[in-house]
Amino acid sequence: MKSIYTRLTHDILKDLEQIVGARNMITDQEKMEHYSHDETSVSEYAHMPEVVLTPTTVEQVASIMKLASRHVIPVTPRGAGSGLSGGAIPLFGGIVLSLEKMNRVLELDEANLTVKAEAGIVTNNLNEQIQDTGLFFAGYPMSLETCMLGGNIAENAGGGKAVKYGVTGRYVLGLEVVTPQGEIVNLGGKVTKDVSGYDLKQLYIGSEGTLGVITKATIRLLGLPKAASNLLVPFKSALSAISVVPLIMKGGIIPTSIEFMDRPSIEMSCSYLNESLPLEGVGAMLLIEVDGNDEAQVERDLITVGDLCSKQGAMEVYVAEDATNRERIWSVRRNIAEAIKVYSPTQSLEDVVVPIGSIPSVLPHLQQLSEKYGVTIPCYGHAGDGNLHATIVKNPEHSMERWQEMEPKILSELYAFIVGELGGKISGEHGIGLKRRAYLKALTPPGEYKLFEAVKSALDPAMIMNPGKIIW
Ligand SMILES: Cc1cc2nc3c(=O)[nH]c(=O)nc-3n(C[C@H](O)[C@H](O)[C@H](O)COP(=O)(O)OP(=O)(O)OC[C@H]3O[C@@H](n4cnc5c(N)ncnc54)[C@H](O)[C@@H]3O)c2cc1C
Repeated sequence: MKSIYTRLTHDILKDLEQIVGARNMITDQEKMEHYSHDETSVSEYAHMPEVVLTPTTVEQVASIMKLASRHVIPVTPRGAGSGLSGGAIPLFGGIVLSLEKMNRVLELDEANLTVKAEAGIVTNNLNEQIQDTGLFFAGYPMSLETCMLGGNIAENAGGGKAVKYGVTGRYVLGLEVVTPQGEIVNLGGKVTKDVSGYDLKQLYIGSEGTLGVITKATIRLLGLPKAASNLLVPFKSALSAISVVPLIMKGGIIPTSIEFMDRPSIEMSCSYLNESLPLEGVGAMLLIEVDGNDEAQVERDLITVGDLCSKQGAMEVYVAEDATNRERIWSVRRNIAEAIKVYSPTQSLEDVVVPIGSIPSVLPHLQQLSEKYGVTIPCYGHAGDGNLHATIVKNPEHSMERWQEMEPKILSELYAFIVGELGGKISGEHGIGLKRRAYLKALTPPGEYKLFEAVKSALDPAMIMNPGKIIW
């Protein structure tokens, strides 16, 4: 692909060094390798940057963007690089702008239930730093120990608690953003309602670094629930487990989480962790959490959900009463992706989302694809949100050429079914990035796609902001 961008010359690098200082600039190839990929597990999704900058102030970010805009240099914002769609990969080289050193909590406002922090704070650190107040940021993903707040906002990340608490975007009240032209703008604030003009803040949430650099965010906090309890519910078949999910949602109780894990996913994670769960005759499990402030109410809700599962054919209903057991089962769930990666690094981790009532229809289609192409497709995910991480795993007996030929066919068929037949979307939380941009274009109605392009060209006419992602 012929690049329309300016390569970084010695003089440009000198100017960048003037802006951030030598200690905040990396040009060593070995050190830059880390910034050439994210957690997307295919090596074709990797590209070296020409320089990595780690600014420490918003003014430095603004100066970098002004320079990049002047010279037409691509800039890829980066948080922790835990993304799963190739979003943080500098596809055209240029500058990787890592927010890792802008990682402070700036203001905790208990009266207004808000916290203001820099975009490079690790999400878990944010919650740890405010936990003594009894408040928390509820919209975090399951990668919270590594990912950063700016990355969560740029991906509008979801997570294990999204059934009850919703995704990251629900908690973003204000944003400080540096535009591709280097202007610093503040969007929103501390108010919980705001119809004063276009909702530009919302436009940046989930924009995957393609419209500007998020440098600070004001986050709405909630009171930490005082009680929580978990059920682990095995079913004979994956279909019977997943079919219970819409019934739970209809039952009037909103659990914090309803996570689905099929047998292959559980087996791989248990083997990876050297853990064991009772799996005799089990086809899949649901991991259900209920939380609240009244312990007795949580207990009652848990019994109601457990009874419903039993009536719908659950083999058992295990209650994880203490923190150790809770951590054991959540650890199995959290480590599935890593375990499948160890089993087979050549894979495609998917993130399809469907209306909740359609979730049982996804599994038979995955089974058909698995049989048609001779691949394994372990499946797990945030079933309570209609969001499943089906992972298409290369058959060890297939050559790499065969995999490369069949992977796009499987994805095209899967996505066409999810979007065309079930009214779903190709990504619920991991984003489009580099990995899914061709499918987004193919499956988005032309009128809507034209609006995507109009937004991009209005805000970033020179196409320097994370080029090659979402739309291209
Ligand atoms: C084990 C594991 C579990 C995961 N679980 C979940 C989950 O439960 N839910 C979920 O939604 N995701 C999950 N993810 C995916 C990933 O962690 C999330 O997408 C996360 O929000 C990415 O944050 P990051 O800081 O790593 O961003 P990066 O990967 O660095 O970047 C992601 C995208 O955001 C852009 N970006 C980053 N920072 C900024 C900024 N300051 N301004 C503008 N753009 C920016 C980048 O350009 C890129 O396009 C998981 C990943 C792993 C490896």
